[in-house]
Amino acid sequence: MQNLRSKTLFTVRAAAGIVPFVSILGAAHADRFYGDPPDANHPWAVHDSNRPQPPRVEPGTFSSQEKQGTPPSDAIVLFDGAEGSLANWTSSKEKKWIRTEAGTLQCTPGAGDIHSVAEFGDCQLHVEWTAPTEVRGNSQGRGNSGIFLAGETEIQVLDNFDNPTYADGFAGSVYGVNPPMANALHKPGEWQVYDIVFRRPVYKDGEEVDSGHVTVFVNGVLVQDSTPLEGGGGHKSRSKPKPFPEKSRLKLQDHGNTVQYRNIWYRPLVPRAVEGGTDGRLSEEAAMAKRKEIAASIREDSAELRGSERLLRVMESLCYEQDEETLKRVAEMSDRMIARLKQASPERLEERKGNLMQVRSAFRYMLNHKLLPEGFAAAPALEELIEAQGWNEKK
Ligand code: MG
Repeated sequence: MQNLRSKTLFTVRAAAGIVPFVSILGAAHADRFYGDPPDANHPWAVHDSNRPQPPRVEPGTFSSQEKQGTPPSDAIVLFDGAEGSLANWTSSKEKKWIRTEAGTLQCTPGAGDIHSVAEFGDCQLHVEWTAPTEVRGNSQGRGNSGIFLAGETEIQVLDNFDNPTYADGFAGSVYGVNPPMANALHKPGEWQVYDIVFRRPVYKDGEEVDSGHVTVFVNGVLVQDSTPLEGGGGHKSRSKPKPFPEKSRLKLQDHGNTVQYRNIWYRPLVPRAVEGGTDGRLSEEAAMAKRKEIAASIREDSAELRGSERLLRVMESLCYEQDEETLKRVAEMSDRMIARLKQASPERLEERKGNLMQVRSAFRYMLNHKLLPEGFAAAPALEELIEAQGWNEKK
């Protein structure tokens, strides 16, 4: 009954365009009072049906050498080959990078670095590039450009297909900090695909709480695995850890080579627990704040329910917050329910069997996890009633 009712509520709310904080869709599952409850560092229960559903993202398509792919539906495009794409980039010099006839973004040597107009922070970033077919220069002089995350950390772009150089300056390196774990480049003239996950350093009260890190795939091969940023990196000098701005522009480097780019897009990432995110292991303070918020939302939701459905929902809020007033209310509601059941005919009880077994299982869960006081009178009373009805007998 609870499931049916919840589905109806969901339909009504969805039709009204109201998206409740506590996912009503979740209530369609019979997995309340199920996994371990929230604890000091986790505001959600294990398998919590109140936890919001992940948003739908339509995936894009992969690129081939001949044709660039398409980004996922929630990506923000920085360059897709369209004429207007150039307007997503700025530079200070008169000489400019160009959009080629083939619809690629090409570095004009001497035009300087370019910056995205968009400012963003932690992201999934997708970039494709190709080095000139005509091989010129050696080491750092061959097909060199670079992708500067937050304008600070360079993920090296370099034609190292057959071109040794210092390891921490290789294509896919965090330049000056960490070499790539492999050289997975195609030959020059072919498109190289970089997929990057960037998490900036986070500081609180002047103290580093997360060093920040970057993960990089070159042509699908993992080359940086959550590499700590250590301040960002640089040429010849060892960088020192430091905070990065919350949002900043992406920079592409002019290193004097006509490197071309295509299919550049990013997806902003949800905040980590250290930045106020509510997934993962939280500080006790943050977990408690979130638990209180969830409890309040569930109690609000319970106002639309009646009878034992309401009791179950109000009781559920105690998993998140052991609020004295709510505890009292649950005891009163439960006692009233027991008093009514004691007056009910065996036929009436039989009609409510599924519902009452559900309440018993919730009581057991709450007592097992010490979320109701040991002397919670309604629990043994209901057990007794169920025993008297013969519902415990195996058939
Ligand atoms: Mg470079």
